Amino acid sequence: TLGDIPQQPRDEAFALTADFKADNHPNKVSLSAGVYRDGNSKPWVLSSVREAKRILHEMTDLDHEYLPIQGLDSFLVAARDLILGKDSAATTNVVSLQTISGTGANHVGAAFLSQKLQPKNVFISDPTWSNHHLVWTVGAPNVTQRKYPYYDFSNHTLDFDVMMSTLEAEAEENDVVILHACSHNPTGADPSREQWQSLATLFKRRKLFAFFDSAYQGFATGDVEVDGWAVRHFQQTLFGESSADEDPCSAPPGMCIAQSFAKNFGLYGERVGAFHLILPNQTPAAGAKSELLRLVRAEISNPPLFGARIVQTILSDAKLRAMWEDDLRVMSGRITKMRSLLRQAIEEDPHSGDWSRLESQIGMFSFTGLSEKQVLRLREFHHIYLMNNGRISLSGVNEGNVKYIAEAFNEVLRQ
Ligand code: PMP
Repeated sequence: TLGDIPQQPRDEAFALTADFKADNHPNKVSLSAGVYRDGNSKPWVLSSVREAKRILHEMTDLDHEYLPIQGLDSFLVAARDLILGKDSAATTNVVSLQTISGTGANHVGAAFLSQKLQPKNVFISDPTWSNHHLVWTVGAPNVTQRKYPYYDFSNHTLDFDVMMSTLEAEAEENDVVILHACSHNPTGADPSREQWQSLATLFKRRKLFAFFDSAYQGFATGDVEVDGWAVRHFQQTLFGESSADEDPCSAPPGMCIAQSFAKNFGLYGERVGAFHLILPNQTPAAGAKSELLRLVRAEISNPPLFGARIVQTILSDAKLRAMWEDDLRVMSGRITKMRSLLRQAIEEDPHSGDWSRLESQIGMFSFTGLSEKQVLRLREFHHIYLMNNGRISLSGVNEGNVKYIAEAFNEVLRQ
């Protein structure tokens, strides 16, 4: 029998969204969910997505047949070029699969690597997107999860030297290290280009497997090239032309990318994503591809069509792509503006000190440094919902509520 199964705790992010919905207070604010909201706190369908849907709607010959196991090929080419650069397949030994958004890509990657690479450890940043731990627990139970320090909680900055020295001292050849491609969740603190260069050199020398989680390309700076830089730099350093003649045994075993289109296309519920496995140039890819297809076949058989068609339609048409890049600037521009408005409003109370971190952090999230006690007080007394670790999503801030939020923060900071 199944017996009396102990109840798991509710997922924090989804629980907060449900509690926020159930709250009837007129001034309630959600700063918890990692979803974009417009200046009126409403979900936003991107103009480029609206236009792509219109075009798809008029294409009367589109059917609803199954996709192949790997997904929509034209979407996969566009997705791969977006993250790795134009004509990426010509220069990269890469296998791409369509996945159930970024989470599905993380999951298929964890399951595949645990079976085929068989690393001793997976290193996960401390802190991280909480689902990383769950995905590896469920998808790769035989791999030991280790944390690497990432954030200096007292100075509100990336703790780069400690991150490097920990990986240097503790990660072993073949170990997997999860890296956030840009807009680190939850801290909003990313390595500089110079720091990414040092990391890539370390990964090459120590033969570590880089697992890039790319959930915010274009969302951080509004520029997909800038936000994709770290991934491309790793690909170049580890497997690029300059390393083509090197002995494959001197390179790491590969790297991979879990790519989500939830945030940068506003296609959260459509579950559009891709997984890209990059192998050293001389390593045959057919076996790895067959194993990945086997995992997909067992889990979802083949991926959903609609969202992939939208993304493919936008990325393959110059006019729609330009429209989408404008949409990215609208979203990232609004977030950047809210960062400075919220900082100014909080700093109006000198007791609250320096909140420049709101502007130095990047992407959708900031790590406020508020304690769990302060977070709970914000929820209980001010109806402002944020994650217990003090992470806020800037997308919940707008010109109408920024003063209310700042006054509430200032109130709890005085407790
Ligand atoms: N990775 C990170 C770091 C994220 O923040 C998210 C979204 N919260 C994801 C992956 C995946 O999200 P989704 O499955 O909706 O694409």
